[in-house]
Amino acid sequence: MSTSVTGEFGRNVFNETTMRECLPKNVFKSLKRTLDGEQPLDPVAADVIANAMKDWAIAKGATHFCHWFQPMTGLTAEKHDAFISPTPDGRTIMEFSGVELIRGEPDASSFPSGGLRATFEARGYTAWDCTSPVFVKEDGKNITLYIPSAFCSYRGEALDKKTPLLRSMDALSRQAIRVLRALGDTTATRVTATMGPEQEYFLIDQAFYPQRLDLVLTGRTLFGTRPPRGQELEDHYFGSLHERVASFMNELNNELWKLGVTAKTQHNEVAPAQYELAPVFSTINVAADHNQLTMDTLQKVARRHGFVCLLHEKPFAGVNGSGKHNNWSMSTDTGMNLLDPGETPHDNMVFLVMLCAVIKAVDKYARLLRASVANAGNEHRLGANEAPPAIVSIFLGEQLTDIFEQLARGSAKSSKRGGELMLGVSTLPPLPKDCTDRNRTSPFAFTGNKFEFRMVGSSQSISGPSFVLNTIVADALSDIADVLENADDVPAAAQGILHEVAVEHARILFNGDNYSDEWVEEAARRGLPNVPSTYESLRDIPSDEHVALFSKHAVLSREELAARTEVLFEGYAKQINIEALTMLNMAKRQILPACCEYSARLGQAVAAVSGAGMGAETQSKLLKRLCDLIAALESNIVALEEATAKAAGTDGAEQHAQSCREDVVPAMEAVRETADELETVVDAKLWPLPSYAEMLFIR
Ligand code: ADP
Ligand code: MG
Repeated sequence: MSTSVTGEFGRNVFNETTMRECLPKNVFKSLKRTLDGEQPLDPVAADVIANAMKDWAIAKGATHFCHWFQPMTGLTAEKHDAFISPTPDGRTIMEFSGVELIRGEPDASSFPSGGLRATFEARGYTAWDCTSPVFVKEDGKNITLYIPSAFCSYRGEALDKKTPLLRSMDALSRQAIRVLRALGDTTATRVTATMGPEQEYFLIDQAFYPQRLDLVLTGRTLFGTRPPRGQELEDHYFGSLHERVASFMNELNNELWKLGVTAKTQHNEVAPAQYELAPVFSTINVAADHNQLTMDTLQKVARRHGFVCLLHEKPFAGVNGSGKHNNWSMSTDTGMNLLDPGETPHDNMVFLVMLCAVIKAVDKYARLLRASVANAGNEHRLGANEAPPAIVSIFLGEQLTDIFEQLARGSAKSSKRGGELMLGVSTLPPLPKDCTDRNRTSPFAFTGNKFEFRMVGSSQSISGPSFVLNTIVADALSDIADVLENADDVPAAAQGILHEVAVEHARILFNGDNYSDEWVEEAARRGLPNVPSTYESLRDIPSDEHVALFSKHAVLSREELAARTEVLFEGYAKQINIEALTMLNMAKRQILPACCEYSARLGQAVAAVSGAGMGAETQSKLLKRLCDLIAALESNIVALEEATAKAAGTDGAEQHAQSCREDVVPAMEAVRETADELETVVDAKLWPLPSYAEMLFIR
């Protein structure tokens, strides 16, 4: 690149440096106090900030602004308004007020609310989340100022993914600070959750996309027989980048850097045509915004390179699906990572208490954490021998497991060391060895100084799993703070807590192979929940225990939680319904006609060959097999139509979701099985859909 990366980075972001340059000193100071959570934004300052933002954006070619928010669809939403404002003398000036910056008032009636408001109660509000910087986004010739926002109803109930995330950040900070104070930290005033989400995705050639209605409408292939070659050679993971893909990544990075997204790591993933991108971690709400921008930019830039980017959790059967690895930790405003074990973790009390809080939280609320990643797409991954299973467990690694076991016996006296690794070649340097190996199969793994939650789906907003994680850890910390604040001997009380967690929550720890059948049995023996189905997992959400949790920490009210669950049930049912209808459309109008065409040709061949006085046994046999499969496909189609109708006839989102899972999904599997079998029989020239081999291997 000719222009320097450091010069380009954040070019389109109204970040702190830009603010310092553009804003009068007192206004900047006032905003800083708001950013630090000390005071609400002063309206006079808001006007000045809005004006400076407008001038900055216009200088970059922007004509519009928008409040950019994250409704419960899991996607983002935006409504653009031009800066123009007509004057009495028939001209127009460019204006943007503090009120417009702080508050938007979109019609909320067409966003899912889960029954939080009736259809006629249309008003909703968006509120500027000033902790996530405003930016300018270029879409073709359209240049717009984006204002990251939260979205709520007329009565102030959260209608989005961001509000509970921000509330959970406050809850986590409150409780973590209580614990830190009790442990003698007098300087930290705020704790923030940090997040670095690794994003997996597929790229396929754009030419195949319009030929696959399933990809266009559902994001995944509903048909497709396994190609002769899949991922068994293990040659794609970390393989050298295809030039076209590398060019795509180069442009992707540049676009992301301009938006202030710290895209850092990129590589080929396990499945053919699968890739990964990881940013440097940031504060969790900013990470959530950036991940949405990343998903958006991936799709946009892919098109410029003749690709289509697939973010679905399972675009192709038979090869790995895509997830997100949510790397999570907590850090203080004094710059301390609370999950950093240091050299001698056994005597690092702050670390051990924080670690134990996470362990307790994850064990106690395993069902909730599992439900936070439940959607139609992820149902194909979790428990399907490629992604973490549907059983939540924690990998701590050798060093911390050893300490944990010491704690269960009493107190921890020592930490195992990593040492050095000699490779047996004099020219290779000795390598400092980590004290712990990695475990790729664990759904929730400690990786050095953070936890990595690996069950998240690739298309999901990270906000849901993030606000759940923040809240459950806040809850465990608040239990701990209650004890420590009332203890006469704090160190002894802290030791007592560590011992208790080590004894009571040991069952959640598992360092072995999470993909093995033995683990499924072992987990059942330990009483750990195993919930592979999305429908069943969603049912776990609105329990009294979870209502109490979210209410206690002011993250969601009972009504808000119920509404959210309703939206998730609806979302699952709608997704399955769309898949079923798409499948029926393709089966009846593309696959069956192609099969009939081939059977007619085979029929002609049988007639022609026997007419020529030759035996046509082989042709007849083929025709017989084809006709049998066609009949089976037809009856499976009828069964799927019936299942879809049955599901549609149910009352309420939960029942609809149940019927989708129990009636529609198995009927879809049956249609697919026969259709995929037919693909192996019918003349390739007649088959109406691009094959897996073409989509996965042709660049
Ligand atoms: P891996 O080696 O696990 O495949 P990467 O190194 O590619 O993963 O990515 C790890 C991610 O974890 C990065 O996004 C990184 O910024 C993030 N990360 C590192 N430290 C922290 C932390 N303290 N809190 C949150 N995320 C972190
Ligand atoms: Mg990782």
